[in-house]
Parts: sequence; C-alpha cells; structure tokens
Amino acid sequence: MIKPAILIVEDEPGIADTLQYALRTDGFEPHWAATGEAALQRQREAPAALVILDVGLPDLSGFEVFKRLRAFSDVPVVFLTARADEIDRVVGLELGADDYVAKPFSPRELVARVRTILRRAARAGAAPVPARPFQVDEGRRQIRFYGQPLELSRYEYGLLKTLVERPGHVYSRDVLLDKVWDTHSDSLDRTVDAHVKTLRAKLKVVAPGLEPIRTHRGSGYALAEDLPGTL
Ligand code: CA
Repeated sequence: MIKPAILIVEDEPGIADTLQYALRTDGFEPHWAATGEAALQRQREAPAALVILDVGLPDLSGFEVFKRLRAFSDVPVVFLTARADEIDRVVGLELGADDYVAKPFSPRELVARVRTILRRAARAGAAPVPARPFQVDEGRRQIRFYGQPLELSRYEYGLLKTLVERPGHVYSRDVLLDKVWDTHSDSLDRTVDAHVKTLRAKLKVVAPGLEPIRTHRGSGYALAEDLPGTL
C-alpha cells in the first residue's frame, strides 16, 4: 500500500520532528519544509497529498504561501496557528483552507484530522476539482485559459506565468524585465507593454468580456483576483 505523502511547513524543528514522528507512526510519509519558498518548490516538484502549513514562517506568511499554492494546486491544507487573530482569519475561511489546529496541539489529534480530510478528499475524488481560470503546465511551458491552450511566445509565457503565480500582486515593469527577460536595459520598458498588449489580445479571444491583466497606473501590472472559476 502506498503511504500518503504529507508536507509539513514549519520553521520550528521541534514541532516538525514531533509531527513527522506522529505521522510516520500512523502510516504516512512525512516531508518537512522549513520555509514557505521551499514548501512551494517541493509541492511543485513532488506534490504531497496534504499540506500542514504553519502561519508564522520566516520568509512568507502561511497565508501568502496558501495563496500561491492555490494558484497551481488544490491540495488539502491544514493551518497551524499560534495566535487568536490568526485563528480568526483562518476560521473566517475567506481562505478556503480545509481545517486548522491551534498551537499547542496534540499530534495524535492532528494526525486524526489529517486522516479525516484525506478520507473526505478520496470520497470526493470523482468530483471535479475547483475550477481555476489559468492552468500552468511548466513541463510543457504551456498555459491554459479556461481550458483553452494559449499559443504563447517565450516572453508572453514568462510574463503570464509570473502574473498567474501571484494574483493581485502588482509587478513593476522593471521587476518583470528582471524576471522574464535575460537582458535588462531601462529603455526596454516598452517591451513589457508590447508583450502585455499581445497577451491581452490572445486572452480576449478566449474570454472577450474579461480583463485578466490589470494596469496599475504608474506602478505596473497585476493579474485580476476576481476572475470567475469558469466561463
Ligand atoms: Ca512558526
């Protein structure tokens, strides 16, 4: 029988150790990431069946990690929270996490919750996963928009992938040039604008009424956060 992989995202080694031990004892295969960036990278490369996500991480907040994770994955997430205000935010579940556990917690109780959530996910297995407007396939360097594969140039792909990874985050033209283009000169600002223009035209063919790439006057571009899940 295959042991379900569980990704623990927690910067305190003591807690991570305790959790790994409890999960292993109960038949799971735990993996540990100490930072948000490491967790996102791991989940891209070797997706776990469930993620246990601490809210207080040294690099990104757990909420930010969750948001970025949701840009490419529907994996169930259990938050670990340490403070009442964090709990409020998770419980408000504007976030749509699957569960939360407040510190200090009983490892046995947490493992029991993990088991319940995975069972629920398995039962719902045939149900369609929540729809997302964009799906990035990094292996093929392809992006689908509402299921339609987009024909993108190398730079269009890089631009759109960058925006899709962090909906709502405003990227300046400089930052986009740095991230997407190999060479950088100040006079290339218009290059970004030109590629955004062609990208918009391609997106418009799929969804004429929507404006997925928003211009923030004087500051840059961001992916819209209010796109519908399906057309
Ligand atoms: Ca922490």
